[in-house]
Amino acid sequence: MTRPKAFRMIRLFAEVSLTGASCPLGCSHCRGRYLRGMAPVPPGPRGLIRLLESLARRGARGVLVSGGLTREGRLPVEPYLDQLHEARRRLGLVINLHPGYEDRPWVLERLRPAVDVLDYELSLSKEMVRGVRRLPFSPEHTVKVMEAMIEHGHDVVPHIFLWHPWSSPQLLKKELAVAADLGAKRATLLVYIPPPGEPEPQAEKLLELLRLARSHWPGELALGCMRPYSVKPQLDRAALEEGLVDRIANPSPRALREAAVEPPLYDACCSLPEHLLPRFRVK
Ligand code: SF4
Repeated sequence: MTRPKAFRMIRLFAEVSLTGASCPLGCSHCRGRYLRGMAPVPPGPRGLIRLLESLARRGARGVLVSGGLTREGRLPVEPYLDQLHEARRRLGLVINLHPGYEDRPWVLERLRPAVDVLDYELSLSKEMVRGVRRLPFSPEHTVKVMEAMIEHGHDVVPHIFLWHPWSSPQLLKKELAVAADLGAKRATLLVYIPPPGEPEPQAEKLLELLRLARSHWPGELALGCMRPYSVKPQLDRAALEEGLVDRIANPSPRALREAAVEPPLYDACCSLPEHLLPRFRVK
């Protein structure tokens, strides 16, 4: 069993939204609320690079670049391709991008020298893809998009829902198998956070699913930052103690106090490849 690593974005890793708080896709569980805590890009043709320069001056060594998605499910990254490349090359920033469902060859090509890793939501659930996200394509298309990203040489970390209201153990196993077949080495598990008033999952159920995921995923497994607060103390503690994950984002402080293991802490996003981690180690 490897010692799990904890991740928390504190000072060395910043979050930027290319669209500010706006998101035309407006998924029913989010409606852009996850974007509100991210730094918006100031107006002007060099707004992004000016923002990244100022973040680097204040100590950032990496950036999560995200934003709202178009109705086609893409991050509107086109105007920023050169600036991202410049930030990585000249400022030495590690760039983790949330590209959405980007499969256009020219964009993937231009992104290759501009980013270190792509976070990508892979889902074979019609309810998630067509219902919650209202995307204009089938779940199978999400597999093709990931394939295109990998073919263009990207390090893609599939983000897969451990649980959502329409999920099942079979669906989870299938999604993990598809991601492994595509050649992914790391996977991140998310837990859907239901809108207020809808039932939240029980920690015991999530633990069963996590044990299942662990037994089916051959590579590194991360528990990503999306999971309800109510399940964190129990889920996180068991995940750490049973070695169910290799990485855990924003672990519950109570779980850390009570767990019999003390994970090393990285001030970064949990998707980064191993070779980039030493520059973000804080404890
Ligand atoms: S695309 Fe992302 S930011 Fe936009 S509403 Fe959906 S989850 Fe939120």
